[in-house]
Amino acid sequence: MTELLTRAMAAPYQLTHEERVGLLGLEETSELFSAAYQVKLHYIGKKVSLRGLIELGNFCAKDCFYCGIRKSNDEVKRYRLLADDVLRMAQWSFEHGYGSIVLQSGEIESEENTAFIESVLHQLHERFGDRLGITLCLGEQTEEVYRRWLEAGAHRYLLRLETSSSELYARLHPQDHLFKRRKACIQTLRRLGYQTGSGVMIGLPGQTLENLSQDIECFRELDLDMIGMGPYLPHHGTPLGKGVTLSAEESDKLLKLALKMIAVTRLYLHDVNIASTTALQALADNGREQGLLAGANVIMPNVTDTEYRKHYQLYENKPCMDENSTQCRSCLHARVLSVGEDILWGERGDSKHFFSKDKV
Ligand code: SAM
Ligand code: SF4
Repeated sequence: MTELLTRAMAAPYQLTHEERVGLLGLEETSELFSAAYQVKLHYIGKKVSLRGLIELGNFCAKDCFYCGIRKSNDEVKRYRLLADDVLRMAQWSFEHGYGSIVLQSGEIESEENTAFIESVLHQLHERFGDRLGITLCLGEQTEEVYRRWLEAGAHRYLLRLETSSSELYARLHPQDHLFKRRKACIQTLRRLGYQTGSGVMIGLPGQTLENLSQDIECFRELDLDMIGMGPYLPHHGTPLGKGVTLSAEESDKLLKLALKMIAVTRLYLHDVNIASTTALQALADNGREQGLLAGANVIMPNVTDTEYRKHYQLYENKPCMDENSTQCRSCLHARVLSVGEDILWGERGDSKHFFSKDKV
């Protein structure tokens, strides 16, 4: 075990599929987490980057079987932020030292939506220039749309693959949601020059440790700069989550598995940015801090006005629903300090991997 971890710490891509599966199945995790944390320290130091998450709207044209804001969930009150609201939330993020923002929403493919995002990006760029990093998380789009948004000032894009298994993907989505297209979109984003992020959900029904190990290999194959992974959490208004409640024991097991995914991904890829996602905090109050100690280095605090948050519930028991952004900020700072880390205030926190590789 110690030999294996030492080898993995020395250079990226050293673990075989079987070794990754073995690490993901560990009961005793302290050595694994500590090795992954050492790798994170080597590349990033005791620093955490923040991205203020702006939930732009919950209209979605898609019907993913796991997601609380899927189009067929009639219980959701739909909303869309105005450009002025987005600018105000971005301004708040900037003034409070969040070096980057993420604009996220349901998936809409229309000229109206494309032009709206484009216009918001122009206004953001005019106001903040390169001082505020801008990540988009707006689903699958055509190459032309991705290009327009890049030219308007976005420079990072997150599009989760959800799983690298096409069979599992097919079981989680309606027939017209194509795994092939999702993967091709990620490749397009990278080719266009975005800092490209992807990831998977952990603990999906039918998902095996072999699937998760293959997911990590797929992150390498896609040459990702940023990884955003989190536990799959049920939502009662979805086909996959209807009538499902996690027991305390199941929640603990899921949290542990998600932390092991972070650690093994850090040990395999080394210099990428890895998010400690809010979904970890839904499983344990200090879930995100545990994520940092397992090798993650990015946190995405919600900066959306509190009144909208209840309408953007991808899963149940989403934390920080009633707090406002100021409360979230001071709570988060204390939490980060409590594990001996500090926040990179006012810095964009770009992915080291993006700048280290040869551009195509
Ligand atoms: N609509 C865009 C998309 O799907 O890429 C961006 C927003 S979508 C809400 C962002 C991510 O939320 C998805 O990629 C998915 O991994 C995650 N998500 C959705 N439902 C979830 C659930 N029940 N548990 C955990 N994560 C979930
Ligand atoms: Fe829409 Fe994204 Fe939810 Fe799928 S995961 S239903 S694309 S918001």
